[in-house]
Amino acid sequence: MNVLVINCGSSSLKFQLINSETEEVAAKGLCERIGIDGRLVYQPAGGEKEITEAPMPTHTEAISMVLDALVNPKTGVLKSLDEVEAIGHRVLHGGAKLTASRIIDDYVISVIDECCDLGPLHNPANLMGIRACMKLMPGKANVAVFDTAFHQTMPAKAYRYAIPTKFYDKYAIRKYGFHGTSHSFVSKETIKYLGLNKETSKVIVAHLGNGASISAVKGGECVDTSMGLTPLEGLIMGTRSGDLDPAVLEYLCNHENLSVSDMLRILNKESGVYALSDNLSSDFRDLEEAMDGGNKAAELAIDAFSYRVAKYIGSYVAAMNGVDAIAFTGGIGENAGIVREKVISYLGFLGLAIDPEQNKKRGERCIISTKDSKVIAAIVPTNEELAICRETVELVEKAGGAKEEI
Ligand code: ADP
Repeated sequence: MNVLVINCGSSSLKFQLINSETEEVAAKGLCERIGIDGRLVYQPAGGEKEITEAPMPTHTEAISMVLDALVNPKTGVLKSLDEVEAIGHRVLHGGAKLTASRIIDDYVISVIDECCDLGPLHNPANLMGIRACMKLMPGKANVAVFDTAFHQTMPAKAYRYAIPTKFYDKYAIRKYGFHGTSHSFVSKETIKYLGLNKETSKVIVAHLGNGASISAVKGGECVDTSMGLTPLEGLIMGTRSGDLDPAVLEYLCNHENLSVSDMLRILNKESGVYALSDNLSSDFRDLEEAMDGGNKAAELAIDAFSYRVAKYIGSYVAAMNGVDAIAFTGGIGENAGIVREKVISYLGFLGLAIDPEQNKKRGERCIISTKDSKVIAAIVPTNEELAICRETVELVEKAGGAKEEI
């Protein structure tokens, strides 16, 4: 089955066309500057990148250009759009109502719309992508794969905030968690790779990218995760603060004459390792280089980031009463050996030790702990697009099967 995987941001759109039988990517690319001017980057498998500048006032024009590129007689990979059997959409927030991937119908659209309040940057863009695909490819199955879904197995003691119940009842204010597609994919891959017994397995996934989150996965199900109502909670990130005393908000609003929205912009866009490095960079490649050159602020940023990751891992070992494996993934988790080394240096009490040679590896699945470690640490690359493709195929096949039975 050919599955078109779409990941819409507010002014961008990433896509991959995946053959679900071979799990190979036939073509991929992205549209940038939607609503500003417009730029399509398109790359067929084994071919050169093509860049086309063209107006993209909305996501509909952007998707229309992607579809044209896919069937282009010269560099396209399809004879006609009939060959696309389903479309899988990454959707940020499904709230408490959509707790698993779903074939998109009016109800699903209405809930994604309701959740725009909870995911104001992403859900509206996700909806635009869904509506554009429905318009341009009528009759195809569209599937929504939610970033929040995998975390819905968390118990109330993990997801409830200790604030008045009326706020939970009235607004469903609680921890939801994000990067669920990645946590689900990587925890499954880790169980398979290490030959763990799924039912008894205890895995911690550290998804460390620009956005970073960590989850505790027991028996294949998420029991806790670090992001919250929004992706601001938890780890220190590229430009997000992660956990902090909420009273900081009131203090700074009063003393700096800022609004709550100003503060949230600062905590989302001007904080994290970017702030700790004195605005040097949010990119770990820059931070590492600066640290090696003796920059103390860059060193503090990397230290504080790694320390927070280690503390979360420690707390999740307690939450699961043990751990079999810790999987590092995401741009930083897969590439930044220095971060993995610093994190693992705090975890010797678990009987975990790093193999420095193995830890030099980047972006490839491998074990980085020593052979006699009691707990295994591994690099397990994520692949969110493939995970979305697999979920889409599963739902479409189930729905097809159900129809035949009728
Ligand atoms: P997201 O999907 O959240 O935007 P990614 O998972 O792609 O982020 O991670 C991007 C980050 O990964 C970069 O900002 C950078 O900090 C880090 N990164 C990428 N490549 C390397 C590398 N070779 N060495 C160290 N850090 C890297």
